Amino acid sequence: MHATIVTLPGDGIGPEVIAEGARVLRAVAARWGHSFSFEEALMGGCAIDAAGDPLPDETLAACERADAVLLGAVGGPQWSDPTAPVRPEQGLLRLRGHFDLFANLRPVRAYPALARHTPLRADLLDGVDMLFVRELTSGIYFGQRQEQGDGDDAWDTMYYSVPQVARVARVAFAAARGRRGQVTSVDKANVLAAMRLWRRTVSGVAADYPDVTLEHALVDACAMHLLRNPARFDVLLAGNMFGDILSDEASVLAGSLGMLPSASLGTGTFGVYEPIHGSAPDIAGQGLANPTATILSAALLLRHSLGLEAEARAVETAVEAALDAGARTADIAAAPGEAISTSAFTDRVLDGLA
Ligand code: NAD
Repeated sequence: MHATIVTLPGDGIGPEVIAEGARVLRAVAARWGHSFSFEEALMGGCAIDAAGDPLPDETLAACERADAVLLGAVGGPQWSDPTAPVRPEQGLLRLRGHFDLFANLRPVRAYPALARHTPLRADLLDGVDMLFVRELTSGIYFGQRQEQGDGDDAWDTMYYSVPQVARVARVAFAAARGRRGQVTSVDKANVLAAMRLWRRTVSGVAADYPDVTLEHALVDACAMHLLRNPARFDVLLAGNMFGDILSDEASVLAGSLGMLPSASLGTGTFGVYEPIHGSAPDIAGQGLANPTATILSAALLLRHSLGLEAEARAVETAVEAALDAGARTADIAAAPGEAISTSAFTDRVLDGLA
């Protein structure tokens, strides 16, 4: 197949990890006979410096022409003034909003080889393989607010409509069908009206997926079970804020921020794929970054935007094989001498794809 992929390296370690993600995609194209064309564009702090805008019009136009976007990370100390009128993360929000990317998918797996990097007992990590489906464009982060930092009060509104909940619930149920067939919907229906609507709507959508088991969990109990018994979860469906918090909590199960990929999807096949970590300015430019999160994001791109399931699985298997064989970047190394560079790690993944 032919596909056009836009890469947005961004700032800090972004360019380093995107280079590795693109190498893996090129290797997939060569091995399976696909033709991927790549276009690189500016986004984030580097785009502010070059064009005064974190998401220049040319970048947006390139994304519109593409089948998918592979994004690194944006931000850094030189653009970190929270009161500055133009900031790198505004580019991210505008990109998501422009393409109405309402579903954020974050797979979390625990790799037995990395158990010592998590604060949990190794036996609790056995079989941990979950997928967060987080609503990304509504909820309390987008509701009406009164925001007066110097006033005596302030408020935010958690708003959800039935169509907003139903469309992200469908993404979760469809994903569960390709996995272990179980959805845990997270809410706070005992207290919040918007969450009672959430629960009612998810239950209604479940009727269209009789082969998938649905359970409802209150967010506070779910936060506890995620650490007490993480292996019991398959797909976790959550609103914007609860999904944000719980998926960060679950990220400790993977051993490093450098391990976790994400996909942001709308109604079509177009998607934006990015590691969940930031631009890591503390290690930028030193070949220390773990490219796994970006390589696994490239696998999600193959799966969700290009429909190349076998190729996506092959990349995921190659990552696991490299880890099992002892390949370690500095963040997941047991001892400093064990660590290999960003590109040497990717070489080991590519060995598994050959
Ligand atoms: P961060 O994720 O960049 O880094 C946190 C810690 O994890 C650092 O010690 C870093 O070295 C390490 N780390 C992160 N990714 C790694 C990788 N792939 N390999 C090895 N180690 C890795 O978070 P931060 O330090 O809070 O933020 C730094 C900058 O990134 C800030 O400007 C922030 O706004 C931005 N940020 C961007 C995004 C995004 O683009 N989506 C997300 C979070 C933070």
